[in-house]
Amino acid sequence: MSKKPAARKKPQVPSPKALAPSPKSRKHVYFFGNGKADGNRNMKDLLGGKGSGLAEMTNAGLPVPPGFTISTDVCNIYYKEKQKIPAAIDREIADHVKQLERTAGATLGSIENPLLVSVRSGAKFSMPGMMDTILNLGLNDESVEGLKNRTKNGRFAFDSYRRFIQMFGNVVLEIPKAAFDHEFDAVKKARGAKIDTDLDEAALREVVQRYKKVVKERARKDFPQHPHLQLTMSRDAVFRSWMNPRAIEYRRIYDIPDHIGTAVNVQMMVFGNTGDRSATGVGFTRSPATGAKEFYGEFLINAQGEDVVSGVRTPQPIRELEQVLPKAYAQLRQITTRLEKHYKDIQDFEFTIQDEHLYMLQTRSGKRTGYAAVVIATDLVAEKLITPKEAILLVDPESLNQLLAPGFDQDEWKSIPTATKGLPASPGAASGQVVFTADHAVEWTAQGKQVILVRRETVPDDIHGMFVAQGILTATGGMTSHAAVVGRQMGKPSIVGAGELEIDEHAKRFRVGAKTVKEGDYISFDGLTGEVKIAQVASKPSEILQALNGTLDRKKSDIYQRFEKLLSWADKVRRLGVYANADLPDQAALAYAFGARGIGLCRTEHMFFGEGRIPIVQRMILADSEADRRAALNELLPLQREDFYGVFKAMRGCPVTIRTIDPPLHEFLPKREDLMVDVARLETAGTSGAELDEKRRLLHRVEQLHEFNPMLGHRGVRLGITYPEITEMQTRAIIEAACRLNKEGVRIAPEIMIPLVGLVKELHDQKAIVDRVAADVMKEQGITIKYLVGTMIEIPRGCLVADQIAREAQFFSFGTNDLTQLTFGFSRDDSGKFLKVYQEKKILEKDPFASIDVEGVGDLVRVGVERGRRGRPGLKLGICGEHGGDAASIHFFHQVGLDYVSASPYRVPVARLAAAHAALSVKVGD
Ligand code: PEP
Ligand code: MG
Repeated sequence: MSKKPAARKKPQVPSPKALAPSPKSRKHVYFFGNGKADGNRNMKDLLGGKGSGLAEMTNAGLPVPPGFTISTDVCNIYYKEKQKIPAAIDREIADHVKQLERTAGATLGSIENPLLVSVRSGAKFSMPGMMDTILNLGLNDESVEGLKNRTKNGRFAFDSYRRFIQMFGNVVLEIPKAAFDHEFDAVKKARGAKIDTDLDEAALREVVQRYKKVVKERARKDFPQHPHLQLTMSRDAVFRSWMNPRAIEYRRIYDIPDHIGTAVNVQMMVFGNTGDRSATGVGFTRSPATGAKEFYGEFLINAQGEDVVSGVRTPQPIRELEQVLPKAYAQLRQITTRLEKHYKDIQDFEFTIQDEHLYMLQTRSGKRTGYAAVVIATDLVAEKLITPKEAILLVDPESLNQLLAPGFDQDEWKSIPTATKGLPASPGAASGQVVFTADHAVEWTAQGKQVILVRRETVPDDIHGMFVAQGILTATGGMTSHAAVVGRQMGKPSIVGAGELEIDEHAKRFRVGAKTVKEGDYISFDGLTGEVKIAQVASKPSEILQALNGTLDRKKSDIYQRFEKLLSWADKVRRLGVYANADLPDQAALAYAFGARGIGLCRTEHMFFGEGRIPIVQRMILADSEADRRAALNELLPLQREDFYGVFKAMRGCPVTIRTIDPPLHEFLPKREDLMVDVARLETAGTSGAELDEKRRLLHRVEQLHEFNPMLGHRGVRLGITYPEITEMQTRAIIEAACRLNKEGVRIAPEIMIPLVGLVKELHDQKAIVDRVAADVMKEQGITIKYLVGTMIEIPRGCLVADQIAREAQFFSFGTNDLTQLTFGFSRDDSGKFLKVYQEKKILEKDPFASIDVEGVGDLVRVGVERGRRGRPGLKLGICGEHGGDAASIHFFHQVGLDYVSASPYRVPVARLAAAHAALSVKVGD
């Protein structure tokens, strides 16, 4: 990721197809309160996650402060109308304000009984901290006195007012927060106050006056006193925050489309900061880090919601709430248990207790680590709360990668003293060089370094650094602080609240105990235990991998058992077969262990690169005559045969697809430039004889083979056609290995695949060679075995004439890497330079080499499938490009009717789960 690429962008109008219908035709504002709501849980598209959750909780009779949600449609209208809201919608909002005032029994701006509201963003997908929020709206010079009279608490009233002016000034009027902090600190200093709460009402009145002066000077207008104007301006600011750089960046990372927009929730304020019988907190019904079934969360007495999540104060664990406010705690437990049963998933909730009165402010399915996702899904089935099918859908296929990530070697880890401990926010082993800013994290990573981002606390602007870091370590904040939430979501090892760290960001160092750690020093930490060590520590394979490779007893690994159980449920549901791309026997064995039941692509040219083989391959390429070439090929034959035998054996009779050699031949020879230097050096030194002759000969041949566009050059089937003896040798090696295994009792039917076919005659030519050699070998071996001859479909022409090709081919495997390259005309080797810009400019939403371009490349696949099956009913169809391991692409391959996907071994579990998601017809990411 480049350094804050999104910062260069101006707000853009979301795509026209997303624009809402005319403002007249549809309801735009949805009320909730008094046990009844206009919306419900199924309206996330329109009301956002927060809005639909508030509606659902209200309908369920939970204590939710009343309010209304302005729909996501309005956000799109706002951008369409050049950042204006049509009068009709303004009126609809005003009506709902009146309804809210009636329900609350209080009025915005009133001296007698002022209503205060919060204004919050809330998109369909949660984007923690990325957009803006305004609290205490409705306060002005008069209503603040009203609030004081009603609460009999002048300190509280003026503290609320100064917070509101600051938030409004910062978010709506875009005045830097530092301008307010400066005034606040000045008052504190003048009055000798150490902490914020030392300021009394008189001091806070002075702060308010100073803040209003800041607004007047910076914004060149008075702080707006009229609550309706405050509301309109805040609403628009929240809509604008949808297009702020960090929100855009967040959506880019998580593939959230721009056009879905955010809703705005306007809700009656309740206060967790009215005194010691008030509190505010957040929590989870289970641990979001490990999935353990424990009530989990944290709270702060006498605080407002933002204080808990911002990480400024380290909150208390929720257990302690039982001692402090037992009645509210018991009610909270009862409500959250009910919520979990209702939503059939772990809930992440926010609450406020005002004078011992509990209010629920939010509930939603909790974000969790991959580890926790598997534990929770399998536990919920065991608790009979959900079915195995529902459990499959609770786990994002991509998140399984976290379970396969390496951990530390425990012996080494234990031998190093622990420097400090923090809260274990997101599991995983992280080791790297310390950096103190997100920008440095990005710069250093670009230089190939592995970094740990160390911050006092992270803020949403750090997102780009968090994304590239190996791990995140913060000094303050709780388990639900920004660093913890985002770290978990990214599956990034994270430790928060490591309070012993004294960070000096300016001097680029931190102290912990007697030790000083500078930028660039190595540290390591374990996100599962919270231990931090000042050393570089090697990592070792994940528990699951250890269980699979036999270094750990499978029965003793709880997480392995759960992982297997979940994937076995997925296997029962999926229609797509899952194969692996593996070239060597050990890779095939790993793929089999991960659940691949076939090899979809064995790239035989990778075998040529093996130890000691390059000189033989070079001899083959340099050969002047067919006889010399055959002699070199004869040397390669036994080596290839051994490899094939090993791969077949590892796959225990499952289908194995072996592709004949593909890359351009000059890849096997030394670089032209290097040879030129060598020749020049030898000539200058006056050397003559064999060495110089050999170099010259090599250089001559390299120049003969040199290609301007090797990706479009002499590769794939074209090699087999120009040098048929290569296809002969490879066929012989494959069939001999298969005969041997069949004789040993393992029934194996190899599938020989010809690459880069665009003309049916190309395949015809190669198939004739394969059939002839196979017949010869079987005769020699005295055994008849089954084998298939098929082709890769990776050239657009191949898709278009798939019916002709299918008459020759017994199977197709779509090579979506080349098909993407050739469909777009984007070189696989060079497109990295511009594709990033394409994505930043939203010309392309995703990298088409990573996730299939459904509209274009996908359509060619569809044509290839239809025409292929027309040419040969029952034709076996698979895909072996990189897309075979991508969850969204797998969804498409399922839809288009392929028989299997083939992915790299480590992606096989992801593919198994994604194929099950596809079969259950749920769009990945929904
Ligand atoms: C492909 O093109 O999709 C493919 C699998 O082949 P390769 O990546 O080896 O060109
Ligand atoms: Mg290819």
